[in-house]
Amino acid sequence: MSWIDDIHEEVHELDAQGLRRRLRIVDLLGGMRASVENKDCVLFCTNNYLGLADHPHVLERSQKALFRYGAGAQASRLVSGHLPIHQQLEEKTAIFKGSEACLAFPTGYMANLAVVSALVDEKDVILCDRFNHASLIDACRMTKAKFMVYDHLSLDDLKKQLEKTGKYRRRLVVTDGLFSMDGDLVPLLKLMELAHEYDALVMVDDAHGTGVLGPTGQGIIHHFPLKHFPAVVVGTYSKAMGSMGGFVCGSQLFIEYLLNKARTFIYTTGLPPAVCGASLGALEVMEQETSRVDKLWDNSKKIRVGLKALGYDIPRGAGPILPVMVGENEEALRMSKRLLEEGILIVAIRPPTVPKSTARLRLSVSAAHTDEDITKLLDAFKKL
Ligand SMILES: *Cc1c(COP(=O)(O)O)cnc(C)c1O
Repeated sequence: MSWIDDIHEEVHELDAQGLRRRLRIVDLLGGMRASVENKDCVLFCTNNYLGLADHPHVLERSQKALFRYGAGAQASRLVSGHLPIHQQLEEKTAIFKGSEACLAFPTGYMANLAVVSALVDEKDVILCDRFNHASLIDACRMTKAKFMVYDHLSLDDLKKQLEKTGKYRRRLVVTDGLFSMDGDLVPLLKLMELAHEYDALVMVDDAHGTGVLGPTGQGIIHHFPLKHFPAVVVGTYSKAMGSMGGFVCGSQLFIEYLLNKARTFIYTTGLPPAVCGASLGALEVMEQETSRVDKLWDNSKKIRVGLKALGYDIPRGAGPILPVMVGENEEALRMSKRLLEEGILIVAIRPPTVPKSTARLRLSVSAAHTDEDITKLLDAFKKL
């Protein structure tokens, strides 16, 4: 038996444990609707929080950029792939986030890899929340820095760990803002005060906060009365902005440092013009239609209240990410299947994305959900 057979065997083992992942075609029908396995359904599992992925202005902006500049950037940004539209996008993003400067990457994943490996090396230590997004965990593992994990959102545990870091040159605290699978929020003000006491820098991944938090969706920084901008804020164009790409916000010199050092920036092709156009369009809509953020929170509240009234176990938190805790993998899969029969798409999130025995239905809300969609969702949960 060659060892590829062992690999094949592992797929069968995943299947047996209810952990096999499969691709399924989701045919988007506009708004929050889609067709899945010939069944029309409402999507409650996208990150399209503001409904911008098919907003007419976003599409028009994208199309214009496509016809002006062509399909691709044709080279790394540092070679000849830095187009005017990249410059515009980064300037506009920096203004939106309230930072000095910004650098865009092909994905949020790559932005996280870039930042962590640029900031620390073998003389340094990283303190990482246990439930941070996989891209942050991978970023921490990629460096030679000492990697320490603290309990989810526990400032007490973080403090304990910080006390052990005296021998390191630099301390970096890395955290999600709005946690992607649990929907809870880092107490950023207190975390930054604590980090400051130990001369540690804070890096926040605002992937789910951008477009969601703060009065007009600028993100986590505008949600808290912070006196200083954190050392680095990472965000994505791929969630609320409905497009693709990641970005890093920080000081002008840090951004220049990154573009000199970050391998995931230097050795890859610049974002395609049509994608930059879409993100610029999304930023413009976010400036003009700030009521979308209010609508998102109203919808989230309605759904939280509705599901709690039906007796579902929803952890604390208030935003648009709502984990309906189930526990066992098979049960989560069964519920997801039943929901689809009722015309609701919510996928089962299982280990290793979340800890063992905490399989869940991760429900995410959008400003584009209508009252009818919400009624349909609650009716479906009632029938489960
Ligand atoms: C989605 C996500 C990313 C990765 O962003 P992509 O643009 O999809 O690569 C990074 N961090 C968090 C917290 C995320 O949820």
